[in-house]
Amino acid sequence: MMGSMRATIIAVGSELLGVQRLDTNSLRLTAVLDRHGIELIGKSVVGDSEAALAAELRRRASESELVLVTGGLGPTADDVTRPAAAAAFDRSLQIDERLVDHMRRLFESFGREMPEVNRKQAEVIDGATILKNRRGTAPGQRLEVGATSIFLFPGVPRELEAMIEDHLEPWLTDHPQAVGHGLETGVLKVACLAESALEERIMSAYDRFGRERISVLASPGDIKIYFSARGTEAERRTELDEMRQVLGELAGDVVYTDRDEDNLETVVGRLATAAGKTITTAESCTGGLVAERLTRVPGSSAYFLGGVVSYTNELKVQLLGVSEADLATHGAVSEPVARAMAQGVRSRYGSDYGIGVTGVAGPGGGSEAKPVGTVHMAVAGPGDDYVEHRVVRFPGGRDRVRQQTSQLVLDLVRRDLLRRDLLRRDGPDQDGE
Ligand code: ATP
Ligand code: MG
Repeated sequence: MMGSMRATIIAVGSELLGVQRLDTNSLRLTAVLDRHGIELIGKSVVGDSEAALAAELRRRASESELVLVTGGLGPTADDVTRPAAAAAFDRSLQIDERLVDHMRRLFESFGREMPEVNRKQAEVIDGATILKNRRGTAPGQRLEVGATSIFLFPGVPRELEAMIEDHLEPWLTDHPQAVGHGLETGVLKVACLAESALEERIMSAYDRFGRERISVLASPGDIKIYFSARGTEAERRTELDEMRQVLGELAGDVVYTDRDEDNLETVVGRLATAAGKTITTAESCTGGLVAERLTRVPGSSAYFLGGVVSYTNELKVQLLGVSEADLATHGAVSEPVARAMAQGVRSRYGSDYGIGVTGVAGPGGGSEAKPVGTVHMAVAGPGDDYVEHRVVRFPGGRDRVRQQTSQLVLDLVRRDLLRRDLLRRDGPDQDGE
């Protein structure tokens, strides 16, 4: 039964053709189609033009059995979806007085009088089914044209959300003959590995599962491996479990989570909470970004004590106890200073982990010995002798250097927490503390 129904999406609104607004409604609708195994064969963005929208509706209705339209149901002159749909399929448009009454009462319940322009929203296309909108005044409509069902939904995202729940999902469930096999997606997230290096590691999975079922999406210091399976719910689960395991083993310990909602700071938070360990930060070139990321996580006060932004040498000395001799001999961007920052913040403020970051974020301030993008990172961990250090030269501009620095240093903490977690499970005496 695969691919038995083809769908198209039309997002209506001139603002979506500009640079300020992105059409996100179609992504929301696509997720619903995916889950129901309906193939999306095309989507378009059309401005608030009745003629252009009518033409697009005719074209999409001729090539697909399900057309989902969002936007243009408002009361103003630029809202043309109703008349465009009526014109496209030679239907009349009539005001439904019961809908007008309903809207009038809705306005009254907010203590307002209904503006006359809102009467437009009660125009119903001949033969269409009205779809109630519990979050707004503009109702949606569904009309059948030949073998094609056309849904007109409001453009406001939170209204669309309710319409999907109240009308689209039930309709799809009632039309199982139209529905193919659901598509489901899993994810693995990878920190601090080059995309090409990851490709090399997971190459054999492409042959095994099919190239089109695995996609790699990279951003600086963070890569997502998406993998998908079709079939019944049970088939999908089995397939996804297998792919998750195989891909996870191939990629190795760079994988930090298999949950889409996770990022490094939430994973560090979970591990630190479980281990009962606390963290402080001493940041120079990242200006508090590491602390900001750690505190994005609700509940971070359980393990994050605080951080120091020590931009100048004076503050590195005063607040962290970095030695003036190290600063003079090696410079602020150096291994001894990064180590001293990590150890200093840890011992002065009494945490289990101390993070130290110092580098040249650019665009200025680079030198031959320390070019822009050079960052020294150190993590002082539980056990006084333990200080991990890394020096990296990150590519990219200031934002990217800072982002990648925060990513790598959080990953160092994650790895140490994980290592200790594994040791603890293997035996309590090996954890080196
Ligand atoms: P409605 O049919 O509910 O009246 P509309 O398109 O007539 O919607 P607009 O005023 O154009 O109403 O849009 C309402 C809000 O919804 C705007 O902020 C708009 O940017 C947003 N919006 C409309 N379409 C989309 C879309 N496809 N994706 C994301 N946001 C959208
Ligand atoms: Mg609009």
